[in-house]
Amino acid sequence: MPSICVYCSSSNAIADTYSPVATTLGRALPDRGHELVYGGATVGLMGLVAEATHEAGGTVTGVIPKSLEAREGIAYDADELIVTDTVRERKRIMYRRSDAFVVLPGGYGTVEELMEVLSLKELGDHDRPIVLVNVDGFFDTLLSFFDELWEGRFARTVATDLVHVVPSAEAALDRIERVIVQDGRSS
Ligand code: AMP
Repeated sequence: MPSICVYCSSSNAIADTYSPVATTLGRALPDRGHELVYGGATVGLMGLVAEATHEAGGTVTGVIPKSLEAREGIAYDADELIVTDTVRERKRIMYRRSDAFVVLPGGYGTVEELMEVLSLKELGDHDRPIVLVNVDGFFDTLLSFFDELWEGRFARTVATDLVHVVPSAEAALDRIERVIVQDGRSS
């Protein structure tokens, strides 16, 4: 069963308009035969995705450093909970355990996680799908900046060759399934 890594906001203070994409994605993962790998927190969109996957009968793997318990909460009801010593170790395990990456709206942490998988893809470290769910144009500014990097020859690869940009959770899974089937990558 493919494992889908979801990077997204840990904030409880963002507008409610961002909740449905997290809940829809979380629910759709088990419905469509995928497992969830995520940062193991109970807060923000992260908590919503995991709760929805769990309630829909899906398999949740959470990876979180003990030091973030007070700040982000630890999802002790995850099917598999990996408690790491550091944030870097958490990220490394999430990266290794996933067949594809879905990015929902988020803050510095989410952007950092996106930039790592994006830049590693450009370097040829992996060729797994990365999908940005551009809810209400949330990522438009970042995508314009990526265009500037490409136009100014700071980037060697145009961003659209590295990430798929889609409008919804369903479209994200459609895209991932197409790539996985094409490449025979299902694990
Ligand atoms: P945010 O998008 O800032 O709400 O953060 C989303 C998740 O990314 C949270 O679980 C953070 O703990 C995590 N995070 C923040 N900084 C980093 C980092 N440098 N590397 C990996 N994960 C991070």
